[in-house]
This record gives sequence, structure tokens and C-alpha cells, in this order.
Amino acid sequence: MAYDPSNIFARILRGELPCNKVYEDDYALAFHDIAPQAPVHVLVIPKGDYVSQDDFAASAPDALVAGFFRAVGNVARELGLVESGYRCLANTGTDAHQEVPHFHVHIFAGRDLGRMIKRFDD
Ligand code: 5GP
Repeated sequence: MAYDPSNIFARILRGELPCNKVYEDDYALAFHDIAPQAPVHVLVIPKGDYVSQDDFAASAPDALVAGFFRAVGNVARELGLVESGYRCLANTGTDAHQEVPHFHVHIFAGRDLGRMIKRFDD
């Protein structure tokens, strides 16, 4: 799938749309999700045109892959989430219901998040 530069996170990265920013460095931008599903729900996006986790893992330069995942850790640490715990999630493609075609990691925290994902037969 080709990267669509009009997606909402690309527009946030370019400063065309506002976000509630919590972190930024050379590799990543992090901001609060507009429809939080936990007391803390932050999105971390790389500074680069990658559709998904698959695209990012296959195509991003090593420095960006490392910088991005260090940024995810920095966000969680700076928000004070490490002691109580947090969950990272990257929806990829149709079965995972990825809505925005710019790779992003969700960070959920602030309450007991339960175990893993919904059971298959729920
Ligand atoms: P996905 O389903 O692609 O993994 O998650 C996309 C996430 O982006 C959803 O949790 C949704 O609430 C969030 N989102 C969609 N549009 C916006 C927006 O304009 N601003 C922010 N901050 N979050 C958004």
C-alpha cells in the first residue's frame, strides 16, 4: 500500500492540524489520543512516511527504528508509567482494524488493563 500523505497523522506531523503533544524528538512525536480508551492513551508516531508496522520494520533506516522505539520508552518513562505498567499496541492492517495509515504505537496505562486481547470467542 502506498503512503497517503493526506492521512491525519501526516497532517499533525506537518503542523497542519493540532494535537495535544506529550513528547517530541528527532525521530518521533507523541500526543494524546482524541478518543482515549484508558486513563492514559498516547499515540507515538515516527517522523517518516510509513504506512504500518510492517512497512516501518521493512523499510525504515536503522537509526529511525532505534530512535523511534527509544522514543516510545522515553514517553512511558516521562509520563511515569513504568512502575505501574503500560501496554504498547500497533494495529496493522484490516484484521487489526488499523484506521490511520501512518505507523503508530498506542500506549495504554492508568488502570489494570486486563490480560492481552479479547478472547477469540468473545
Ligand atoms: P488505529 O485504529 O489506526 O490503530 O488507531 C487510530 C487512533 O487514532 C484511534 O485510537 C483514534 O482515536 C485516533 N485518532 C484518530 N484521529 C485522531 C486525531 O485527529 N487526533 C488524535 N489525537 N487522535 C486521533
